[in-house]
Amino acid sequence: MNVEPAITSAAAPTPHTEGGLIEALVRDAREAFDSGLTRPLEWRAAQLRGVIRLVEECEPELLEALRLDLGKPALEGQIAECSFVKSEAAYVLKHLAKWLRPRRVRTPIIAQPGRSYHYRDPLGVVLVIAPWNYPFQLVVGPLLGALAAGNTVVVKPSEVTPHVSAFLAKRLPQYLDSQAVKVVEGGVEETTRLLEQRFDHIFYTGNGAVARIVMAAAAKQLTPVTLELGGKSPVYVDASADLDVAAKRICWGKFFNAGQTCVAPDYILAHASIHDGLVQRLRSTITEFYGADPQKSPDYARIVNERHHRRLMKLLKSGGEIVAGGQADEATRYLAPTVLQDVPPDAAIMQEEIFGPLLPVLSVTGVDEAVRFITQRDKPLALYVYSGDDAVVEEVLTRTSSGGATVNHAWLHLGVPELPFGGVGPSGMGHYHGRSSFDTFTHQKSVLKKPTALDPPLMYPPFTASKSKWVRRLI
Ligand code: NAD
Repeated sequence: MNVEPAITSAAAPTPHTEGGLIEALVRDAREAFDSGLTRPLEWRAAQLRGVIRLVEECEPELLEALRLDLGKPALEGQIAECSFVKSEAAYVLKHLAKWLRPRRVRTPIIAQPGRSYHYRDPLGVVLVIAPWNYPFQLVVGPLLGALAAGNTVVVKPSEVTPHVSAFLAKRLPQYLDSQAVKVVEGGVEETTRLLEQRFDHIFYTGNGAVARIVMAAAAKQLTPVTLELGGKSPVYVDASADLDVAAKRICWGKFFNAGQTCVAPDYILAHASIHDGLVQRLRSTITEFYGADPQKSPDYARIVNERHHRRLMKLLKSGGEIVAGGQADEATRYLAPTVLQDVPPDAAIMQEEIFGPLLPVLSVTGVDEAVRFITQRDKPLALYVYSGDDAVVEEVLTRTSSGGATVNHAWLHLGVPELPFGGVGPSGMGHYHGRSSFDTFTHQKSVLKKPTALDPPLMYPPFTASKSKWVRRLI
């Protein structure tokens, strides 16, 4: 089938929310929170059910918006946007009542008689700022966590994907409580204005340069931040790896959404003994997945805009030999799934996050060199090791630091709701998904409840020698 994914972002109106309205929306969100609206479990559960209904009832409309903005194949939209969000909402809904119950913990003798608890307070008004690559998931994922935690939320979708931004502005108020969920559309101007307002938490997903702007603005009000960033996520393929499986899984993880995935394998460090075999399998897998001409494949997305297309073309030309792909068409923002070898480590493509369908393969002498290469660079958001040898796997996992890792596959760790998702160092701070979203968007309040019937005078003046003896014995 010859299907050219339509990409009309450039023709879509730039999303925009009037400046004066932004202050009013934030004020309304604050008033809604202060009214106590969001506290009851039933209200929170209704919002989660609203998210599930939104996905169920509006999926075709959402998939069309994703196609228009990113040429996103429907199945990729179903997997990474619709099903992901729906199952996250269902998981949180299932566990929320339990998470909300105050948790009793042991009380030491010094505080006896008494009972100690962890309470969970909502934070207040949360700001969610999202990027364009998974423009639905990265708005609604944090949003549902913040609502489940009892907050009101202002969301700012990315202006780079205007069709999805318009979809969210229209549909979120229909399926969620519009007193508690506000959508601000727009770009730098609107986000800057938002960042001048007072929030109780800011949840930002995007690049490190803007993260610094967000954090500096948050610092003025001592607002805590979660920063979900990116970076170069490495892959080590060991001599012991199953190369057929590795090639398929790496190609799937890399070329999904045309490489515009924060946890996409950025580059491969291949053991010298299997380097050529791996490259050959990567080439044949690309043909198997997308046909002889991937431009004609309905299963391959497009680069989001001309700016990113040009950026990627520069990286493509920065060094290395193209051994698969390399074809490009700026008018339709097509860039073929591309593999490069003999890439100098100082080439531009090895300096910044690629965030596109270019896959450099570098040769290393073994696990030691791979670990050295990784640890000499910024801590990545994700790390992948392909090996049939448990000792090699453990060596890589324990000698490197990354936000998360998947062994013998690409980025599936982020689909496990019991695994917190987030970066470390330059790849981000804080976590979310499942229970960790609830933790991120609540304050863990320590509560000690004391009865009054017994009031031992041990710590009251006058301090006597016998009290001192007892204190020494008890504390
Ligand atoms: P983007 O350009 O859409 O920007 C993200 C948000 O920041 C948008 O809402 C945008 O309006 C706002 N913004 C942009 N410039 C701003 C400024 N000067 N001041 C205030 N706000 C501003 O998306 P992006 O940053 O290009 O996203 C890609 C990056 O995000 C990659 O580095 C990728 O790895 C990372 N990412 C991380 C995750 C994660 O979960 N860790 C997920 C997706 C993407």
